[in-house]
Amino acid sequence: MLQSIIFAVVAIAALGFAAFQFSKVYANIQLGKPEEITGPTSARWKNMILVAFGQKKMFKRPIPAILHLMLYVAFVFTQIELIEIFIDGIFGAHRWFLGPLGGMYNFIISTIEVLSVLAFIATVIFLVRRNLLFIPRLRKPEMQGWPTLDANLILIFELILLACIFTMNGTDVVLQDLDPDHYKATNFAVSGVIAPYIFGGMEASTLHVLERVGWWGHIIMVFVFLNYLPKSKHLHILLAFPNTFFARLKEKGEMINMPAIMYEVKSMMDIEDPNMPEMDPDAELPEFGANDIFDMSQIDLLGAYSCTECGRCTDVCPANITGKKLSPRKIVQNLRDRTEEVRTKIDSGDAEYAANKEEPVSADNFEDGRSLWDYITREEVHACTTCNACVEACPVLINPLEMILKLRRHEILTEAAGPQDWLPLFNSIENQQRAWSVGTSRTAWAEEA
Ligand code: SF4
Ligand code: SF4
Repeated sequence: MLQSIIFAVVAIAALGFAAFQFSKVYANIQLGKPEEITGPTSARWKNMILVAFGQKKMFKRPIPAILHLMLYVAFVFTQIELIEIFIDGIFGAHRWFLGPLGGMYNFIISTIEVLSVLAFIATVIFLVRRNLLFIPRLRKPEMQGWPTLDANLILIFELILLACIFTMNGTDVVLQDLDPDHYKATNFAVSGVIAPYIFGGMEASTLHVLERVGWWGHIIMVFVFLNYLPKSKHLHILLAFPNTFFARLKEKGEMINMPAIMYEVKSMMDIEDPNMPEMDPDAELPEFGANDIFDMSQIDLLGAYSCTECGRCTDVCPANITGKKLSPRKIVQNLRDRTEEVRTKIDSGDAEYAANKEEPVSADNFEDGRSLWDYITREEVHACTTCNACVEACPVLINPLEMILKLRRHEILTEAAGPQDWLPLFNSIENQQRAWSVGTSRTAWAEEA
């Protein structure tokens, strides 16, 4: 009874705090601008099933893909055991599913155990790969500090969780001979074989304690993991699904058009467009592009929270490969970092961050004198060739190029800034509607031909 009460209290506290943290992530994504969702819903479901659930894009690199698959399948299957732990915890039962499922129960737990062994092997390989082998994309400057610690922590959590599963099952197997009334006979594929070697010969009281340590350790690691996720890159385990669903369906390389600019250019070139609205010469100029998260779209922010920090985008980026400062992964990470900074400041309620000091600070009344340019340098943004290689490489359909283009548009169109050597090009396009500033008519060559 006491254990059921403790379990209920711990579960409610852990789930409640996790729900609060996930609601914060949702609110953070809402800080961006809404973006029209276009294209057929069927194509979106297909993307989600193939890319997020089927991990389709991961298989371009078979070895990490197989290792990820081991972890992923083990993660999904272990949830079955988790349901049982919840039922046992609340009702004070022991292996509640064993009665109704009979032989099938042995099959399910054995499958979980085999998958857990594979997950254990994959986790150890990931730890070695990340810490002992020199994988260039895992050693880039943006991976120093927290991103590497985060990746290692989650792998260590995984090892502890797996150790708890085998302690729980293994001690149970040995206790079946010592206390058959409480520990019903099972036939597990892994712990049934190895448990006698590890736990055989121990006192029943020690085994009871270890069995409870494994059981509680398992569920507590799940709660820790759940509460850690919103702060971690491993949030992609959940957000990869909405991110792939809402990913833009337009052709790669097709930029999001800006109607205000399009109509301006058409009017400059005397091109008739029946959809063109009446221009108001006195209207205030809109802001173009984005220099902070508020002008990025919610899809961009969802992408930032879905990033696995795998570095596949940076690995194929020609700017990065040729030694430029640009790393598309860093751009995506910076977007999330800035969003977190804004959220912390809004939550502080500090009047210093209110744009209108008469009103309390909020998402709509925020000004801290900082922007994405405090995270991302102009040099990084200028180095992008707009080749789309990063977009193509991303295993969860994030589009770093769209973020870079928005920063560039803000710099060029709103700030009227940009690299000095780009200015003759812009002047020429604006004044003569061509890239090269030559005095002859655009069509002179055709007349001469
Ligand atoms: S689009 Fe830009 S950021 Fe992406 S790979 Fe190409 S150069 Fe790099
Ligand atoms: S943007 Fe995509 S490819 Fe780049 S690090 Fe994040 S998940 Fe990996």
